[in-house]
Amino acid sequence: MPKAIIVGGGIAGLASGIAFADVGWDVAVLERAPRIEPLGAALSLWPNACAAMSSIGVLSAVSAGGAPITAMQLATRDGKTILQRTISDQAMMSTRASLQDALLTALGSERVRLDCKVDHIANNRIELAGGETMTCDLVVDPGGIRALSGAKSIPSYAGYGGVLALSGKADGVELKGLAAEYWGRDERFGVFELPENRRYWFYMRSQSAETAMPSLAMCRKAAEGWPESVAQAIAATREDALIPFAIHAKPPPKALNADGILQVGDAAHAMEPNLGQGACQALEDAAALQVIVPNVTLEKIAAEYDRMRLKRAKMFVRESAQARYGAHGPKTIQTIFRAALRTIPTSITERRMQGMHTMPDYLASVR
Ligand SMILES: Cc1cc2nc3c(=O)[nH]c(=O)nc-3n(C[C@H](O)[C@H](O)[C@H](O)COP(=O)(O)OP(=O)(O)OC[C@H]3O[C@@H](n4cnc5c(N)ncnc54)[C@H](O)[C@@H]3O)c2cc1C
Repeated sequence: MPKAIIVGGGIAGLASGIAFADVGWDVAVLERAPRIEPLGAALSLWPNACAAMSSIGVLSAVSAGGAPITAMQLATRDGKTILQRTISDQAMMSTRASLQDALLTALGSERVRLDCKVDHIANNRIELAGGETMTCDLVVDPGGIRALSGAKSIPSYAGYGGVLALSGKADGVELKGLAAEYWGRDERFGVFELPENRRYWFYMRSQSAETAMPSLAMCRKAAEGWPESVAQAIAATREDALIPFAIHAKPPPKALNADGILQVGDAAHAMEPNLGQGACQALEDAAALQVIVPNVTLEKIAAEYDRMRLKRAKMFVRESAQARYGAHGPKTIQTIFRAALRTIPTSITERRMQGMHTMPDYLASVR
């Protein structure tokens, strides 16, 4: 039985572990943390991620704990719509904890080794921090934006950051599946619905990497005059639920492997969060590998994975970076960007979104 060693147990590592195990490989996921703990709060999982989750067999478990997204809206801070679209295929908000639980259950915790830091990584051999070495047929690197195999491409600070949180039960009307982002000048809020009328929300602003992150009181103050749903989400949040973040990203990748090591998730395509697609693309990586691995020889896996995934991964990295101009960057660009979103014919934005939200038929395209 061929063996894959997977260096990291985040969303990408667990999902690709499932893909390899599903096609009969022996899988070892090595995670440096002592526990699989979700970093962050919640995620939007768009229709393409739902298709990928269906392929790797976790869709029903994740949707059981998620809340459907039925529409997305971009609006100004005074609530005037810039772009609004119905999402007719299945999409959802999920807590990261719930997604990771479903992935871990499907993978089997016996395939995951915790407290296991990898120090060196090579084509079919890894070395652990304690000096132990392990060999395998294929090394997969889902080690995130600072993954060992991605050392040649340095992440850079994107110029904005902030705080995000999961709220308790919020007062006020239910959002009925609306995923909304409100854009001010150099700042924005996002508000998303979770089961039991809880909210996932974020506050992002343009700031230097050294600026202290806003407190709950500062978020409350910043939300004055913005749509009511923002204040309601903040009011239902405890101070200790705030999670600070600073956005870093890498340029579009030139390949999705480094010297024969397969890269998946942020290790392959670390993007800004503006399209909510980072984890969705990690799930697509896994769905693609699930059909590539049993259908080509070992030597051809990396090339086939690149052929099937590279163009689409690059597009998401590029477009996620451009989407920052809705609320960050030079003011004139922000104005032009919003005007363009308002005036581009609906048929064009629909087609664009449909392309992003449709997972390619990877099985049909494998050679
Ligand atoms: C504010 C924000 C909002 C976002 N919102 C969304 C969203 O709504 N939808 C969406 O799809 N995406 C979203 N994303 C992106 C998403 O969070 C990431 O794309 C995703 O979490 C990446 O998962 P990963 O498994 O590739 O990497 P990571 O989560 O970084 O996991 C890497 C894992 O590898 C382990 N590791 C690394 N090096 C080693 C080593 N040497 N030895 C052993 N273990 C190692 C780490 O400990 C870690 O567990 C958002 C990101 C941000 C910052």
